[in-house]
Formats: sequence, structure tokens, C-alpha cells
Amino acid sequence: MASSPIGIFGGTFDPIHYGHLRLAEELGEALNLAEVRIIPAGQPPHRGEPRTPATHRLEMARLAIADNPRFKLDAREVRLERASYTVDTLTDLRAELGSQQPIWLLMGADAFLGLTTWKEWRRLFDLANIAVAHRPGYRLEQADTLNEELRQELERRQAIQAADSTAGCIMLKSITPLDIAATAIRSTLQSGHSVRYLVPDSVLTYIQKNQLYLTA
Ligand code: ATP
Repeated sequence: MASSPIGIFGGTFDPIHYGHLRLAEELGEALNLAEVRIIPAGQPPHRGEPRTPATHRLEMARLAIADNPRFKLDAREVRLERASYTVDTLTDLRAELGSQQPIWLLMGADAFLGLTTWKEWRRLFDLANIAVAHRPGYRLEQADTLNEELRQELERRQAIQAADSTAGCIMLKSITPLDIAATAIRSTLQSGHSVRYLVPDSVLTYIQKNQLYLTA
């Protein structure tokens, strides 16, 4: 019998917010994932140096997921002293977990729309399945936003039977639409306004205690 699938959810998490947590919760439930590994990026290759040190982003993620038994924090990317690429992280995880382990790479629609710019993006499908959650403001089904190569992969890989698949499928999933973004949270904090109920209270307390996001 195939082992229960696990989910991999990477991001800058600067800071982690309820948009991230609902994505992990809803895809975790929909795919019956045994665990969801939250993997904060060290130095994201696409977006320059994140403004908040990895230790803070890691600690906020730890606090945010502390009471969820399905969520596990994985610090491997922040421990790297070079840029972290998803294809490399997945290659390591695949080696650790074995070829029979179903793996789902979780992401929001905006990340998926940019997938063809990722390092060795086609190889991602050899390593994992991809589950894409809808996100307000990003339209997945529109030909004008979807790169032609990606549209073809989507068409082909959505048709593959996902049950027990170890890698190679794509699933699109509607989740509770939450128009929350870390960029907006940072600028709200910089202008001295409240981000309560956009992030868990434990994360808010940590932000205040460490005086994060006070300057642009
Ligand atoms: P920023 O505003 O700094 O770009 P972000 O809020 O988009 O940050 P990231 O850490 O870049 O957060 O995102 C990590 C992953 O979470 C990505 O796959 C992204 O698509 C997804 N994601 C983030 N916010 C949401 C949301 N509100 N709804 C659905 N997916 C989301």
C-alpha cells in the first residue's frame, strides 16, 4: 500500500499569515496529507534578499503552527548559505523519503503563474505532484495570464489520476479566498496600523516584541 502523502509548502513567510495557514489547512485536508512541511526560504532566488532575518521568519512560522499536529517546521532552506531552489529542496526530500512516497508541493495561484521562471521547473513534476490553491487577484484559467508551456502542462497533468500518485499530477483547488499578503501586512505595520486578525496573535506579539516591520 502506498504511504500517506505529505505536503511541502515553501515561502518567504515575511511574516506568515492566515492566507498561508488556510492554504496549508485546506489543501492538507483535501489531499489527506499525513503532514505539511512548512519550509521558510533562506535567500529566495527570485526576489532578492528578504528584509527580515531568517531566524525571525522561522520563529514566527514556529509560533504560528505550534498547535497544529499536521504542520511541521522544516528549517533546511534557512540553514543553507546559498540561494535555495525548490527543485534542490525537493531532490533532497525525495532522496530522504524514497521513490514510493507521494509528495504534494503546495502553492498559491500567483506562485504557479510564475512557475516557468523557476530553476529546472519541468523537473519539479518528476519529484512531486503540485497542488495549486486559488488566490484573490490571480486568475488561473485565463489564457492571457497563463504561459502557453504551462497551460499545456496543466492540461496534460490535471488529467492524470491523482489518487496515490507519487509525482507528476497537478490539482487546482478553490480554498476560502483570503486577500491577505505579507507585503500589505508589512506596509500596514510601517504606517502604524493594526494587523490583528490577519496573523495569529502569537505572531503579532512576536512582531511587537522584536519591533519588526517598523521601517520600510
Ligand atoms: P509577499 O506579499 O511578500 O509576496 P505572500 O503573502 O505572497 O508574500 P509568500 O511567502 O511569498 O507570501 O507566499 C508563500 C506561498 O503562499 C506562495 O505559494 C503564495 O502563492 C501562497 N500564498 C500567500 N498568501 C496567500 C493567500 N492569501 N491565498 C493563497 N495563497 C497564498
